[in-house]
This record gives sequence, structure tokens and C-alpha cells, in this order.
Amino acid sequence: MRLTALACSALVLLSACAKKEAHGDVASHDSHGDPNGAKPGHEAVAHWTYEGKGGPEHWGAMGGDNTVCSAGKRQSPIDIAGKTPQKAAKIQFAYRSSTATIQNNGHTVVVAPSDSGGVIIDGTVYTLKQFHFHSPSEHAINGQRTALETHFVHQNERGELLVIGVMSDIGTADPMLASLWTYLPTDPGQALPLNDILINAQDLMPGTEDFYVYAGSLTTPPCSEGVTWMVFSSPLSVSAEQADAFSRLVGPNSRPLQARHDRDYLHVSGGA
Ligand SMILES: [Zn+2]
Repeated sequence: MRLTALACSALVLLSACAKKEAHGDVASHDSHGDPNGAKPGHEAVAHWTYEGKGGPEHWGAMGGDNTVCSAGKRQSPIDIAGKTPQKAAKIQFAYRSSTATIQNNGHTVVVAPSDSGGVIIDGTVYTLKQFHFHSPSEHAINGQRTALETHFVHQNERGELLVIGVMSDIGTADPMLASLWTYLPTDPGQALPLNDILINAQDLMPGTEDFYVYAGSLTTPPCSEGVTWMVFSSPLSVSAEQADAFSRLVGPNSRPLQARHDRDYLHVSGGA
């Protein structure tokens, strides 16, 4: 657990923006939004994909709430580039080791811990619901995508979402992923228990408290806005074999970069 006590008005401001737009049923359809893991057969659209007829350029035309995928002005992912205002924030990491399930939902692989704590920002508790992977990364930093991005989906008691993104470059193998990858489900299906290992989200995050923070959206249909994003500024590394093992399973699963429009983002440091 790490605790810093610095001013954090900027982070609150972004969170407040997200709250206003929070969407009631963000959750039921998506690997971000379904806190307990996506449920095959309960998707808002029959077939969304990452290429072809169901690909990202068509998500907004699939009806219902999906319109925001094309019409929204606060969509994710974005390229985080240029100079960003630097702010300090009070971020408390309060993760703990927990049992978990793992599921290949056809779009990604979702790990859902049963009781893994979360983060506390300005006194608001955001509980970790699940994390999942994208390859290549969805966000870019100064135009550069990485081999893999992990999304840690948190929710506060009002149902508002906070997603922490961790980018991973090709390099040395990640020891935590090495054990997790032995459980990768080869086919889409139900969530399966991760026997014999406990999951602690902190083990899958950089040891820094340096983030880019902005107001964005789910990166899969229905692309609901009102999501606060915190993307670690420094990447971890994975081996090429680890990245390939995931890619082979669910193929490229990254939404194209979205327009920033008039959004601000912040470079937030939790460390003193
Ligand atoms: Zn994601």
C-alpha cells in the first residue's frame, strides 16, 4: 500500500466530469463494463468485431446506445501526445491477493478476482472488478502503441468506472503473466476458476505513480462515455512469446485511436 498526500483538485475535476455522464447500464455488454466478466449471449449487438462488417467503423451504426461510438466526443482510446499539465494527486493503492476466474469471451481474456481491493482517490474507493488485455495496445503515447495493454476496470459504489491502463513493450518476459498465461482458455466460454494461484493487481502494474488521466469511454460497444482513464506513463515489458500467445488466441483486439476533440488530459504524479 502506498499513500501520498498531495493536492488533487485536477483529478477530482476530471472525475466529476465523468460522473455527470455516467451511464446506467454501461455494464452489461462489454469487457470493460461488465464488472463480473462479459457474458456471452448478453451483448447489446449480435456481432461486433475488430475487422470487417462488424468492425470499429461500423459500431456506431449498430443501433441503440452504440450511436455514441461514432457520435461521441469523449471516446477512447486516444493518442496521449504533446505537453501535458503536470499535477499531483493523492492515490492510494489498496490491492490484495485474491482468488479469481479467467474467461475467454471471444473479444479478450478477462480475469475477475473475487476480492482484490482497489484504489482510493480522494477518499473515493474504486473496487477492482476485472482486468483484461488488448494486443496491440489501444492507447498510444506520442504516437507509439505497444505490444500489449492491460485494462484494470474499477467501479465505485455509485457505479462510476475508472480504468487503469498498463502498456507493455516487447522485452523481458513478465513473470506474473508467465503463470497467468498457463491458464489462458483456448476457446470462448464460461469463466473458469484460476486454481492454485492468487491474483494481486499490484503485481501487474509498474512500481511508479505516474499517470496520464483523461475523461474517456469504453473502447468496445456500446462505447459509453463517463469513464475516467488513468494510463501509466511508463510501460512494463512482456516477451514476444507472451504477446504472441495472447494475439494468437483472440487476434488483434484494439480499437483505432479516437479524436481528442477539446479534451484536456493531465500528467498526474502520485509520488512526492
Ligand atoms: Zn479494455
